[in-house]
Amino acid sequence: MGATYQGAKAGALAEVGCLSFHGRKGASSGEGGALLASDPEIGKDARLRSSFGIGSIFDMGNVVGLPIPVFTEIGYNFKLSDIAAAILQVQLGRIGELLARRSAVAAQYGELLAGEDLLTLPHVPADRTHAWQTYMVTLDERVERGAVATALRAQGIGCGHGTFAGHTQPVFDAKQTCPVSLDLATRQLAIPMHAELTQDQVTRVAHTLREAVHAHAGTARRAA
Ligand SMILES: *Cc1c(COP(=O)(O)O)cnc(C)c1O
Repeated sequence: MGATYQGAKAGALAEVGCLSFHGRKGASSGEGGALLASDPEIGKDARLRSSFGIGSIFDMGNVVGLPIPVFTEIGYNFKLSDIAAAILQVQLGRIGELLARRSAVAAQYGELLAGEDLLTLPHVPADRTHAWQTYMVTLDERVERGAVATALRAQGIGCGHGTFAGHTQPVFDAKQTCPVSLDLATRQLAIPMHAELTQDQVTRVAHTLREAVHAHAGTARRAA
């Protein structure tokens, strides 16, 4: 949410878009998500299937008497809980402010980490805006990622993979090699990014990261 491509919102680029409200995202209900459909029929169908195949309790509440619901589809229980929805609603009301804070954090990281040979910073092309769901740096081949992660965590700074090369996971049993994906998945590191980060915290993360990549950079190119 908040990402745009050539002026269009990311969720509106296709007939159906999916939003995640996972805890890492710009607006979050802890877990859960939403489906955006340009065709109201698709929306209606999704709503029905996500609610046991009988439509919403709210709609049923407007029915007179107590007719037995009609199950027309195999349904699921994919509803966002009322409690999660209440949390999300407040965040959606503040979404502009939350995204602006994330952009400010990204800009500060950009300044503080600029010119570091061992890091490649995220690049935002001119025709799009970034929602900064994640701030992901790419480590140079010489840097030992696991050691950098351990060093950051020892200072109380969280970090993670951020991306996976899905084709390498046994569950997909994929035949593709996807060398670029594989390479990035072994070198990328997601560093703290959220709307409540203070300037001092961002400064501390950037400083600690710079130190860690230098402390854990060998001279040889590391094999993926
Ligand atoms: C967004 C996200 C998830 C959850 O994604 P869903 O689409 O809500 O399933 C899980 N892990 C990470 C790191 C994420 O950024």
